[in-house]
This record gives sequence, structure tokens and C-alpha cells, in this order.
Amino acid sequence: MTGQPAPLISLDPSNLKPESTALFLDFDGTLADIAEHPDAVSVPAVTCDILRRLERSTQGALAIVTGRPIDHIDRFLAPLYLPVAGVHGLERRTARGTRSAVAIDEKGFGALKRKLKAFADANPGLLFETKRGSIALHYRQRPELADAAAAAVHAALDGHSGLHILSGKMVIEIKAGEATKADAIAAFMKELPFRGRRPLFAGDDVTDEDAFREVARSEGISIKIGSGTTAASFRSEGTDAFRAWLARLADCFDSQLLTEQGL
Ligand SMILES: [Mg+2]
Repeated sequence: MTGQPAPLISLDPSNLKPESTALFLDFDGTLADIAEHPDAVSVPAVTCDILRRLERSTQGALAIVTGRPIDHIDRFLAPLYLPVAGVHGLERRTARGTRSAVAIDEKGFGALKRKLKAFADANPGLLFETKRGSIALHYRQRPELADAAAAAVHAALDGHSGLHILSGKMVIEIKAGEATKADAIAAFMKELPFRGRRPLFAGDDVTDEDAFREVARSEGISIKIGSGTTAASFRSEGTDAFRAWLARLADCFDSQLLTEQGL
């Protein structure tokens, strides 16, 4: 980390060009406000419209990079159908619509699931979630159980190899495989329409820090949403402020294209 990030307001969208910018956006806590239950989130219709305009002005160089499965994102953003990296890079859908998934070894997941489900069942308010290659315990409704949930996860994981613990906002997750959000962004950047552009990634959680460092390597722009130590170069105070900035970016990109077309 090198010092404090600059306020996002100081990043003037008119300095960015739609034809040379590649947008990578986290979902929860970045585009969508965090809700009591992961299924209860929603994206404002106006934000979906902004994403649609950004997708069009960048000629498709806009991807969602999230811890959720790809199908969740499609459901929340419908009818938008964007390139997505899901489950922290374990699965990916390219701009051409090709879907791929990192090979993972879920051996031992059955026993882990049983142990952690039993822990969640014994502690009402905890939410137990399974995805391909991942098991998550959400404690947003029982924040006082953060330490107990972490202890349960570490105890359950004892003796298992090839699995990683990700601690996010009000969630602790066990993930198989080595893939990260940073890997997913690197993979997108090798493909059209992202290739050769300057990456911009925005995210809110500690699990986004790898991706902030990844875009820094390509002289990209990184934006942290909310408080907390970060390697990002800019900070937005919250989702509202970030969505407002995205709206300015969409306006800027649209007007640059109109100017180019002589309209
Ligand atoms: Mg997030």
C-alpha cells in the first residue's frame, strides 16, 4: 500500500475515453447496497440503465467481477447480459459469451459442508450458503458471532489442503482452487474487447485488494468503495457516491461519442 487513496471526486471522467477504458465492477457493496440477506439485494433501475449505456459506449468492455455465481448476476441485472467473473474468479463468461470454470477438487467438501451447516443450524441468524467450489457463512444478522464463525471455519478446515479462507464483509468463506478476482481480470485483459485498454476496477471488500494490485500493474485505475485499508488509488465514500460517479462517466462517454460523430 502506498499512502491514502485520493477521493473519487478528483477522478475526472472526462479524462477517460470510452474506446480505451476497460471497466471491471464488483457487485455487492459496489453496484448494489448490501442487504440483510444476499437474495434481498437489488440494483436500482437507473444503475442498470447506466451499465447498459457504459456497455454500449465501451463497445462491450464492461465486466462484473464478483464472489457470486454468474447466474445470480444475470438475475439481478436482467435483461442485461454482461461478461462476468463469478465465485472470486472460479468461473467466467467472456464478452463472446463463452463460459469456463477453473477445475477444482471438491474432495472433502461434503464433510466440511456438514460441519458448517450444523454450526449454522445451531446459531439462528447465521446463513449457510454453498456454491460450486465455495462454502460461505454469512453473519450479517449475528455480527457478534464473527469470531465463533471464524473459529468454526478454521476448525472444519483443519487437515484439508487446497482450500482457502476468504474473510469478507460479514461473511467468511472457504474456497477451492487458486483463482482470484485478479486472475479473472488478467484473463479478460487478454481478450477483446478488453485487450489493449486501460483497466478500471471498483470494489468494496478485502477480497478485492488482489484485483486493485492487478490493475495497478497495468497502470489502471482502482477504486475502493467505503472505508478500510486499501491498495486502491481512489476511494468513494459509498455506493451512492460511486453510482453517481458512474452516471457522470456514462454521460461523458456518450457525449464524447456524439462529438466524434459530429452530432
Ligand atoms: Mg463487494
